Amino acid sequence: MAMARRAVKAEPLAGALADAGLVRGDGFVGGWVGAEERFAVRDPATGEVVAEVARLGVAEARKAVDAAQAAFAGWSVTLPQDRAALLRRWYELILAHREDLARIMVAEQGKPWSEALGEIEYGASFVEYYAEAARRPDIEGVTSHLPDAEVEIWREPVGVAALVTPWNFPSAMLTRKAAAALAAGCTCVAHPSAETPLSALALAVLAERAGFPAGLFSVVPGEAAEIVGEWCSDARVRALSFTGSTEVGRILYRQSADTVKRLVLELGGHAPFIVFADADLDQAVEEAVKAKFATSGQDCLGANRFYVERSVYEPFCARFAEAIKALTLGPGMADCDLGPLIHERAVEKQEAHVADAVARGARCLVGGARDGQGPLFYRPTLLVDVPDTAKIMREETFGPVAAVTPFDSEEEVLVLANATEYGLVAYLHTMEPRRIYRAARALQFGMVAVNRTKVTGAPIPFGGMKQSGIGREGARWGLEAFTEIKYVCRDWH
Ligand code: NAD
Repeated sequence: MAMARRAVKAEPLAGALADAGLVRGDGFVGGWVGAEERFAVRDPATGEVVAEVARLGVAEARKAVDAAQAAFAGWSVTLPQDRAALLRRWYELILAHREDLARIMVAEQGKPWSEALGEIEYGASFVEYYAEAARRPDIEGVTSHLPDAEVEIWREPVGVAALVTPWNFPSAMLTRKAAAALAAGCTCVAHPSAETPLSALALAVLAERAGFPAGLFSVVPGEAAEIVGEWCSDARVRALSFTGSTEVGRILYRQSADTVKRLVLELGGHAPFIVFADADLDQAVEEAVKAKFATSGQDCLGANRFYVERSVYEPFCARFAEAIKALTLGPGMADCDLGPLIHERAVEKQEAHVADAVARGARCLVGGARDGQGPLFYRPTLLVDVPDTAKIMREETFGPVAAVTPFDSEEEVLVLANATEYGLVAYLHTMEPRRIYRAARALQFGMVAVNRTKVTGAPIPFGGMKQSGIGREGARWGLEAFTEIKYVCRDWH
């Protein structure tokens, strides 16, 4: 692959920003690196090319690890207050440019403006949180069990960390990983999804402006399988933190085996949303709309299947239908409730899940079709009486289709909720305190949201059970994932 530089065709987006320098189409590999071959990033709302980005590959992936390995020697021994200060500078720059960063995200991802702005602030909160954590490294200890010996336990950064992120949260998934890894004393090489590389590259621009030493944080856009495959096989990469589909997670898990890497896998979800008859029905409907339609349904935390106790099933479906009919759909900058989906495959999946459910006897009360605004707009949709055999009750739909079905007993619904390979988040609506504990215990999910939808944030352990992943992000667990424990036993004499 040739390495000649070429100008990026990014004028329309850059022109809309206060700081045009945030749109970069080159990779950041210990410094900015171009390529003759470039790939188009398109606005999902219009199909227009937003920018052309360098298609990097194995050579640049290796070069990024060379740079990260070289930077590790200094960064791993940087004093806590200095590490914290650098992360803090990055955080302040992200916040200062939040509107431009959100504008970039809307252009490549399509999500509504308010959600994009919310994601930038959510993503920045991890940088702030880990800047503070970097200043106060944990001190752990145990009392010696051996005579005449002193026992010490140290936490050390694991080394170079590879970070691989998806298109649905192109900024926050990267800051959630990078801030934790950097606070732990690791250096990072990151690969963003081909649909949304600009958000990651804008974070690299701000990292450079914050004064990150060369090699501390590289962003390598291009051929995913080549770049990430190279990192998986490189023994110098000691940790891999991946957010994406369970399917790709399995591949990377296998590919990391030969070099026995530390792994964090944040994978797919298939969240159940359970409404008992004693729930506050208005609140349940309001939360159901948020749990299903945030990020236009393209959210790993998105509720995919709604189980409603039979005695309140009809009123719930009627109110849910009214709430869905009121939702607005439009390009991200119009700041409607929903935007376009990311690509044609995503729209086809909605169509396939709706057709399959209807063929099995479900009724479509709202939506159920593409919208005339553009090929990637799919209307918010409500399916009721969906049988358990329907694909939508088994697979992640990752779009704006809600599937509702009635249940008759607590035992029955908990079995249905757990009958999946996924275990990321479950939503529970009931006012009965003992049932909350019984159900929250029984649900095999890493996160359980009770009578609410929003549960995420930097100070909590985010992650899934079963095939929704390995490890947790956020809080001290997110930082510890990038560390090794060293035990030192010293004779006194
Ligand atoms: P994806 O698995 O297709 O891609 C994720 C990343 O992996 C991208 O950077 C992509 O370039 C890279 N990739 C793709 N194929 C690869 C390969 N063969 N080898 C190496 N790398 C490869 O996922 P996506 O479509 O971008 O994102 C949607 C998925 O992410 C959904 O399943 C969603 O549930 C999941 N997700 C999970 C969380 C979480 O925290 N658990 C958060 C957001 C999204």
